[in-house]
Amino acid sequence: MNAFSVDTLKERIKKYPKKNLIHLPTPLQRLDHLSEALGGPEIFMKRDDLTGLAFGGNKSRKLEFIIQDVLKKNADVIVTWASLQSNWCLQTAAAAREIGITPVLVLFKTYDLPEEYDGNLLLDFILRADIRIMDAEKGKIMKQEDVADIIDKIVLELKEKGHSPYVAPIGGSMVGGSMDKPLGAIAYVNAAAEIVEQVENEGIRVDHIIHASGSGGTQAGLVVGTKALGRDIKVSGISVSDEKEAYSKEILTIARDTVEALHLELIVEDEDIIVIDEYIKEGYGVINREVSEAIRFMALKEGIFLDPVYTGKAMVALIDLIKKGCFTKDEQILFIHTGGTPALFPNKYKITEFLSQ
Ligand SMILES: *Cc1c(COP(=O)(O)O)cnc(C)c1O
Repeated sequence: MNAFSVDTLKERIKKYPKKNLIHLPTPLQRLDHLSEALGGPEIFMKRDDLTGLAFGGNKSRKLEFIIQDVLKKNADVIVTWASLQSNWCLQTAAAAREIGITPVLVLFKTYDLPEEYDGNLLLDFILRADIRIMDAEKGKIMKQEDVADIIDKIVLELKEKGHSPYVAPIGGSMVGGSMDKPLGAIAYVNAAAEIVEQVENEGIRVDHIIHASGSGGTQAGLVVGTKALGRDIKVSGISVSDEKEAYSKEILTIARDTVEALHLELIVEDEDIIVIDEYIKEGYGVINREVSEAIRFMALKEGIFLDPVYTGKAMVALIDLIKKGCFTKDEQILFIHTGGTPALFPNKYKITEFLSQ
C-alpha cells in the first residue's frame, strides 16, 4: 500500500465536516527537564490539554466532528454517559451549550468520590446540564451494553416531552447511539496528520507515541492515522480501565470502522494495537501514591499539571518503561497530554494525603 500524504489524508477526512470549537494546532513542547531527570530518551509533549474548550482535552477534538453531526441531525438535546467526574461529559456539555442545546448527562458512580459539586461535576452544574447520577460497579468504564436500558428510557422520556435527542456513545469512540461513524477516532486521524506535519516542520523524529487509553477512539485514530501516512511510529495506549485482550479487540473494531469510513484501503492488524494494561492498578479512576507522585514530578520538572485518572497513570507507565529500558537513549517519544485536569480537585484529599507522607 502506498502511504497517503498529509494533505490527501486531510482531504479524506473532510468528508466529515467539523464544527470549529477549539484552537488548533495544539502546541508541541520539548520536555528537556523531564528527559534529563529520567536519563532516557528525548520526550516531547503534544498539548491536547490546551484545546481551549472547557479546560481542554482530547474529547473536544472529537466533539468538533460529533457536534457537526448533531447539527446535521437536527437534535435539540444531546444525551451521553460516563463516570461521575467525566471529562467527556463536561466537554460534551460545554460543546452542547455552544450550539445552544441542552446536555443530558448520565453519570455513574464507578469510583468512590463524593457527589459534591467539585471538578468536572461543578462545571456540569454551572453549565446547567441535566445531571442524572446512578450507582455502578466500581473500577471500570461503563460500556454501551451496560447502559443501554437506562439510556433508552431517558431517550423515551425526552421524546415524550417533544425533544429530538442525539445519543453520543461514551468517549465518542465506538459507533453507537446516534453516531453511525467513528467520529472520535476520525478526529484523532486528523490529530495524527497534525502531529506528523508539526514534528516534521520542526525537524523532530518521533518513534513512539504514548498516551492514556480509555474508550479507544484516541488510540484507534492515532494508529490509523500514522499507518495511513506510512510513518514508522509505534502507538502505545496505556489502559486506565480494561485488560489488554478485550480492550485491544474494541480498539481494533474502532480502527477498522475508521478505515472504512475514510476509505483508506489499509489493513489494521492485531499487532498494530499496542495496549499496556499493567498500570490500571486499583482500577479506573482510583488514584494511588504512584500517580500522585507522577503528577508532582511533572509539575516540579516542567510546571505542567497532569490529571489523576488518565495522564497521571500514563506518566507512571512512561517513567517505569524508561526505567525498565524499553526505549533506547536515541529514541524520541511523544507523550500526548489528553487533558482531564479538573479531576485533580475532587481528588484533593487523596492527593494531599499521598504527597504529605
Ligand atoms: C477520555 C480520556 C482519555 C482516553 O481517550 P479515549 O479516546 O477514551 O481512549 C485520555 N485522557 C483523558 C484526560 C481523557 O479524558
